Amino acid sequence: MKSILLTFITFLAFTSIAQEIHKCYTHEVMQKQEELTPGYLQSVNEAFYRAKNEMSHDRSTVYTIPVVVHIVYNNAQENLADSVIFDQIERLNEDYRRLNADTVNMRDTFQTIVGDSFIQFELATTDPNGNPTTGITRTSTTHGSFFNFSSFNAEDVKSSSSGGIDPWNQQDYLNIWVCDMSVLGSPFILGYATPPNNLPHWPPGSADNMSDGVVIQYQAFGSNNPNVVDPGTGPIDFQGRTTAHEVGHYLGLRHIWGDGDCTAEDGIDDTPNADAQSDQDCDTTKNTCTDNIGTLGDLPDMVENYMDYSAETCQNSFTLGQVDMMRSILENYRYELINGTPAPASINEIAFEFQMYPNPSNGSVVINGIPEGRNVITVYGETGQQVWNTSTVNNQIQIDHLNKGVYFIQVINDLGTVTKKLVVL
Ligand SMILES: [Zn+2]
Repeated sequence: MKSILLTFITFLAFTSIAQEIHKCYTHEVMQKQEELTPGYLQSVNEAFYRAKNEMSHDRSTVYTIPVVVHIVYNNAQENLADSVIFDQIERLNEDYRRLNADTVNMRDTFQTIVGDSFIQFELATTDPNGNPTTGITRTSTTHGSFFNFSSFNAEDVKSSSSGGIDPWNQQDYLNIWVCDMSVLGSPFILGYATPPNNLPHWPPGSADNMSDGVVIQYQAFGSNNPNVVDPGTGPIDFQGRTTAHEVGHYLGLRHIWGDGDCTAEDGIDDTPNADAQSDQDCDTTKNTCTDNIGTLGDLPDMVENYMDYSAETCQNSFTLGQVDMMRSILENYRYELINGTPAPASINEIAFEFQMYPNPSNGSVVINGIPEGRNVITVYGETGQQVWNTSTVNNQIQIDHLNKGVYFIQVINDLGTVTKKLVVL
């Protein structure tokens, strides 16, 4: 009886939330992944901080990412035409190179902090076996919707053994799977992506990690997609920016509201903070949090940013801080993607070790075993805000007066950057 009741309640819950469309499920997928593999979020954070501190701020080199689009379909509508795929790649290139015509709509107040990422995309011309390819695969499947409530993801689509298709070598290609993730016949999530992480076996594909890449709901792919989604308020005007958003996650970006209120942030210095996501709106009157962005001071909420949940028709830019982060991820974590060769050992190796005790701590912690020489030590809060910073030539320091919470202690010196997690109880 209990299980029947539970099943019924679960069914009711699914029925009500199925009416809601989630623009992106990356955050939820990551939370679920942390439950399955404790330490996963820490490894993602470590990658983020390291990339942040190794930003070159060089935007002169154009990076081109080879893309393979896997169309996995079980009816004709899902088997998107080549013209839709070509359009999506074109939209990605326009948006990432800031050549999109709608940049004219950007408010003056943001003009100095947005720009070209000098990152572009091309459908792969050579497959993993060295043969010519269109960069598109098509797989007919008998699998129904790929969204799985127990795992919070659609990972089945990433394997031939579960009705999808195996990735192409994830070090060399950005894999984008396009499939159906609907619930009870309605689109439920529009996409999710795997951010870079610091695990030793990166890039992933192993049992304790998600398979690397981006997954997009088939109707949300491209700006000329013939399939219409109407959540009851009129058809959603897709501009190919669900993919721009998910590729942003794949290149290390977080949501601009930091998946929390004004106390959370995205760890990028020039994105105005927001207390919540936009809800498919273009509300330019919002200024939900007080920011301090250099000489610009407090800025309104940036609904024009691809990493918000605003309507795709009002998104048109990345900030320069986001650009620097994505480029640093390519230079430090997704190196082979843009260089075609494995990263030099110096990029992959842990630069040095240090000790930190006690951990968990009561607010005071000793950092010991730091290499001799000039060390910059920075304490970050859980969502990326800098809490404390110092430089020292000693190999031991003590940090006091930390409030209860989760921190990341980062040490930078000539050898490189190492970040460790600290819990204060
Ligand atoms: Zn997202």
